[in-house]
Amino acid sequence: MNIILLGAPGAGKGTQAVRISEKYKIPHISTGDIFRKNIKEGTPVGLKAKAYIDKGQLVPDEVVVEIVENRLKEKDCKNGYLLDGFPRTLAQAEALSKITDIDAVINLDIDLKLLADRLTGRRICRDCGESYHISSFSGSECTKCGGEIYQRDDDNIETVNSRLTVYENQTKPLIEYYSSKNVLKNIDGGQDIDKVFEDIVKTL
Ligand code: ADP
Ligand code: AMP
Repeated sequence: MNIILLGAPGAGKGTQAVRISEKYKIPHISTGDIFRKNIKEGTPVGLKAKAYIDKGQLVPDEVVVEIVENRLKEKDCKNGYLLDGFPRTLAQAEALSKITDIDAVINLDIDLKLLADRLTGRRICRDCGESYHISSFSGSECTKCGGEIYQRDDDNIETVNSRLTVYENQTKPLIEYYSSKNVLKNIDGGQDIDKVFEDIVKTL
């Protein structure tokens, strides 16, 4: 099954992706994670992407599309995959449609007013990618794998505001795009984490 997880920053894509990937045994491909790995390793792609990510802007389409195209050619994708954070523009969606077929687009629908708090309070496990929130978690070790908990550099209020504006202008039109292709599944992302996952499993 080839799946896209769509939704604003903070809608819960990463949280659900970890669960979906585990249940359906398909790789979780997050373009944001790929960029953060490249930044950490100091690669040319990482250096280029960092300037955009720090400002809360999108990395240019051609850079992201090439990364995804190469990633989808890897062996572990042959029985399906889960895209998280890609596509984010109509141009990326068009490029993707020339590379592969998509079975389902899960849109995590959520009131944008909730997102600044979710993002600035987010903490993540460096090893398994599990997301936490400071309202319910204050540890320094992941409860799933013991990995180190960290806060993303771009989860500060200035960058968050610009990411939310970018979402409204450039990514939200994808809801209409995939709806017109009859693959869109809307899920209420404002429910608790387990209920969101239950609804996703039902719809898949
Ligand atoms: P995204 O990958 O879409 O940017 P995350 O999955 O990282 O979003 O979630 C952002 C923040 O919101 C994290 O702190 C996470 O723990 C929290 N979160 C995710 N899903 C829910 C939910 N259904 N209800 C409340 N908080 C959530
Ligand atoms: P994310 O981890 O999905 O929140 O992405 C973090 C940042 O990486 C975004 O704010 C963008 O700067 C960049 N990024 C991730 N995915 C894409 C994409 N598909 N297109 C452009 N930029 C992206």
